[in-house]
Amino acid sequence: MNSGEQLSRTILLLATDLGIGNNDAIVRALHQPTVVLVADTEVTSSFAGQVALTTTAMLARRSGHQVFVDAPDAPLIGFQPPMSGSSLHEAILSVADKMINGDTIAIGCPLLVPDIAFVFGNGTAGVGVRAKRIISVGWSNWSGTLNNWPIQSPWEDCTNPFGAMTAAALAAAEVFKISGQILLPISNGAAGFRDVFAPSNNLHFRLAPEDTPLCINVQPFDIISAGAVSNAFLYALARIDGITGAGRVFDSDRSDHPNRNRNVLLLPDAIPHPKVDTFVLPIDLNIEPIPRHFEEADLRSMANHVIVGVDDVPARWMLARGKPYWMAVGATSHFSAMSSVHYGHAACAACLHPKDEDADGPTPTVAFVSFFAGLQVAADFMLEMSGSDISLVSRQIYWTPFHPKTAVRSQVYPTPKCPAGCNASQIKRA
Ligand SMILES: [Zn+2]
Repeated sequence: MNSGEQLSRTILLLATDLGIGNNDAIVRALHQPTVVLVADTEVTSSFAGQVALTTTAMLARRSGHQVFVDAPDAPLIGFQPPMSGSSLHEAILSVADKMINGDTIAIGCPLLVPDIAFVFGNGTAGVGVRAKRIISVGWSNWSGTLNNWPIQSPWEDCTNPFGAMTAAALAAAEVFKISGQILLPISNGAAGFRDVFAPSNNLHFRLAPEDTPLCINVQPFDIISAGAVSNAFLYALARIDGITGAGRVFDSDRSDHPNRNRNVLLLPDAIPHPKVDTFVLPIDLNIEPIPRHFEEADLRSMANHVIVGVDDVPARWMLARGKPYWMAVGATSHFSAMSSVHYGHAACAACLHPKDEDADGPTPTVAFVSFFAGLQVAADFMLEMSGSDISLVSRQIYWTPFHPKTAVRSQVYPTPKCPAGCNASQIKRA
């Protein structure tokens, strides 16, 4: 099998947004960028360093790019699905050729000068690195930062994986811009994308206030859809050391090759099994896989906390009618991610999306955008579970990982014509 089927949703995104009719040209542009990930022993021996490096490698590879990891081996810390093995190199090699066909994630450095090099953590690891662009990658508990070399991005040897994953998503987006730039000359919609694909000198994104604690005993939750956003949600939670709790995941679909561009827990041996099966992990966060749609009758037994990764707008209305205490929705639109949090007494998800604007056919997607949406939902879940979120006001955020400074954050307001007829909308109506 060639990579075209596996990358079909990313190809669709570029074809649609850039107005390009030649899929082969898009596949070539996705495979062309070469990226090398560099770190020293101190960073590869740290949990956050391992999370940042491996997440970047997998996200970039799921978009078809050529990825090299030029970093010393170290014992793998914790369980970092879908990888397996006891050392960092073993873990990377366990998934290296299982993302997208045609290339692998290689240990070592490329023969030719790579397009981009990321230096994770300590800047001294970047001395002597050759690349057309060199970027310093840093993170804190809840934020990620990229800076053009030689400006250093600060990093922390923290047990919180969220900032490291944020940095990884930003790095994967920056590599993807190279494919975008390659395609601009044959694009019919190039004018608007010149700025979108422009390299950034400095990128920063924060998922939650820096003093937000990690909660390791989480309350029961339901995940609606086992798609890309939900994959990212669990990928993030599974990296919290010692996390315990129980949840359920509902989805009637089976994993397929076109999911490989974005479902971060998916490896080919899970195809064509039910998508929910990839949510069963050997950790103390027990997820019950339910291989069918969540239905109206399930509202009665719905958990107080609901994570929604389903694209279907009427399905979100139905869930809002169940008035869960807390519900978070993660979604994507082209190169933008969005996530929202809704409280039972405040504006619901149907207030935010009162119109069914679903388009028919496959949805265009790309790895780092879907991942970012699910990551933000996981961070919001931690905010809620740790009792740190005292605002109790429904809120949303909309951003593109290419230029996260332009993120729009706002409150969600009740709409009198709410299709779910939530409490807040009825008060507004009165
Ligand atoms: Zn509502």
